Amino acid sequence: MTRGVTIEHVSFGYGATAVLEDVSLDVAQGEFFAFLGPSGSGKTTLLRLIAGFGTPSRGRILIGERDVTGLPPWSRSAGMVFQSYALWPHMTVAKNVAFGLERRKLPRADIARRVAAALDLVGLSAYADRRPAQLSGGQQQRVALARTIVIEPEVLLLDEPLSNLDAKLRVEMRSELKSLQRKLGLTAIYVTHDQEEANAIADRIAVLDQGRIQQIGAPTELYDHPANRFVATFLGTANLIEGRIANGRFVGDNFQLDGVGGPDGPACISFRPQDIALGSAASGTAATVTAREFLGSVVRYELAMSNQRITVDVPHRRDSEPHAVDALVGLIVDPKQMTVLR
Ligand code: ADP
Repeated sequence: MTRGVTIEHVSFGYGATAVLEDVSLDVAQGEFFAFLGPSGSGKTTLLRLIAGFGTPSRGRILIGERDVTGLPPWSRSAGMVFQSYALWPHMTVAKNVAFGLERRKLPRADIARRVAAALDLVGLSAYADRRPAQLSGGQQQRVALARTIVIEPEVLLLDEPLSNLDAKLRVEMRSELKSLQRKLGLTAIYVTHDQEEANAIADRIAVLDQGRIQQIGAPTELYDHPANRFVATFLGTANLIEGRIANGRFVGDNFQLDGVGGPDGPACISFRPQDIALGSAASGTAATVTAREFLGSVVRYELAMSNQRITVDVPHRRDSEPHAVDALVGLIVDPKQMTVLR
């Protein structure tokens, strides 16, 4: 039976070095949750603590209602899929998948039935007698998945499971993984540094930086309403304009915006390249085109206004004429598309 995971005020360090600081989050039963952050942000450490490889210095971890904080890995029912797959090279695919069940001393017939079902689920029934070296990377990945799913874990933990595959296969496998998770109703926690992968696969994402949670939310929430500069820039391209708010008006270097709520003080306006439109120089804040790239569906412009550089994507329509480099254009700003960060 699959269960949710609760992490309450967890801190952890290696010696004097703090790796996780006061991390709290809830993963709902049946949810696909991702830990996203740059390398070294503490994602794998947090996943390993859930699996039982290490004990937090503070805080608690619950799987369902059960406090597992002090329990060893084998007495939690968390199944982990490793980046390296960690398959036994001398064993057949079927033996690899059966391994966890044999260790649990299940009856032979049960093992055979469950292994067959797991291999069927990942589409490898025809490969049961091969050894890992006789399989492609994607197939090895599936064996690793089958081996974990076969033990019917309460939570499935995945540590960058697709990072050893080429780009095309990675995209295929992530949608397979997602549909398998849906079909089985599994609670899954997925570690990745790739924001596109997290956006594509996860119901919700926790963004980590330097061992702290920066924000938790659905992919579109994080993209549209980033809580801070880190989240804004880590999830896609963001334009950040630094300035001050006074009496409801934001004033930056050559850029103003009215109707900004909240207290006065230093602030930053954040928006995506597609959140601003370009018109004639008279139509809005003036800026100069410094570079442009035709990307097919959009034309990406680099613009300069005073000392500020910004990136704007304009949808490309058939036969439309792009603005020239060095042209003066006007920025047409919709205040509803602007995020105020403090
Ligand atoms: P991520 O998965 O986000 O790349 P990790 O959780 O692997 O990050 O690592 C977080 C931090 O902990 C890094 O600074 C890393 O160098 C450090 N770290 C990881 N494992 C160990 C270890 N066994 N001993 C000491 N420091 C470690």
